[in-house]
Amino acid sequence: MKLKIFQRGFNYSQDGSGNRLVYHLQGCNMRCPWCANPEGMPMEGALMTDPDWLVEALCPRGAVRGGALDREICADCADMPCVTERRGKGIRLSCEEFELDELIGEIERSRMFFYDGGGITLTGGEVGMQFEPAKELLRRARELGVHTCIETNGTHPRLEELFPYVDELIMDCKQCDPEAHRRWTGVPLNAVRRNICRACATHPMVHIRVPLIGGVNDSQEDEVRFIAFFREIAGDNVSFELLRYHEFGRDKWGQCGWAYKMDERARVAPERVEAMRKHMIEAGLRYRRT
Ligand code: SF4
Repeated sequence: MKLKIFQRGFNYSQDGSGNRLVYHLQGCNMRCPWCANPEGMPMEGALMTDPDWLVEALCPRGAVRGGALDREICADCADMPCVTERRGKGIRLSCEEFELDELIGEIERSRMFFYDGGGITLTGGEVGMQFEPAKELLRRARELGVHTCIETNGTHPRLEELFPYVDELIMDCKQCDPEAHRRWTGVPLNAVRRNICRACATHPMVHIRVPLIGGVNDSQEDEVRFIAFFREIAGDNVSFELLRYHEFGRDKWGQCGWAYKMDERARVAPERVEAMRKHMIEAGLRYRRT
């Protein structure tokens, strides 16, 4: 079994407790325009360019001209010699495939770094897009006694099957209005809501995160809907957090050849985040900063 990964490395905080080896799995079924890891969206990987190194010699099919990549030519190119043979800094594929045995070996060798309650985290992209190999990796890591965490958008219909192999479950909740959820993410809210409810009812450690984006989910009506839903699912096993919008992904959208459509209206004032946080705490929700 193999997993397609677009980024891997250690991180402390935000990706689960303690120091963690984090695997970003390729592929996501959502299309959120504020995504900080857009290269992780297409299942087949994204072709990323660096204009400083983008030279014609990288492409035998003539797709590089005048320092730019003609992606229409790339769309019909199955074997991609630019990344399989020529390998320059100017063009790279976002992801690589790894055998599970290779990853398990890396996890075993990394044990000494899993301090402060750390372990491994599978994030994305969306973990559910590579469901079977992700499940198997989690199962084998647990068997080794390694602490496991996933970060998920909550859409996979069989997500619950992963719960027995996950110590810490981080789920996004981007909108509580069905129409707005579909409009901004491209997928319906139903499955997300159902999975969040199921997780909060059965899993021992759930952390719900709201990426707070100006004009997307930061209105008073949004706040009322979020808090009403969160009160329904709250429990000692559930914590909540707001993540303020940032632009860290902007350059990567360009490197993938896509337009970044967010603008300054997406920035949420710190006072607004703080007010919403306060209202969540006043509503009896367990707020946890990561
Ligand atoms: S994907 Fe194919 S057409 Fe596009 S740059 Fe690479 S080799 Fe050229």
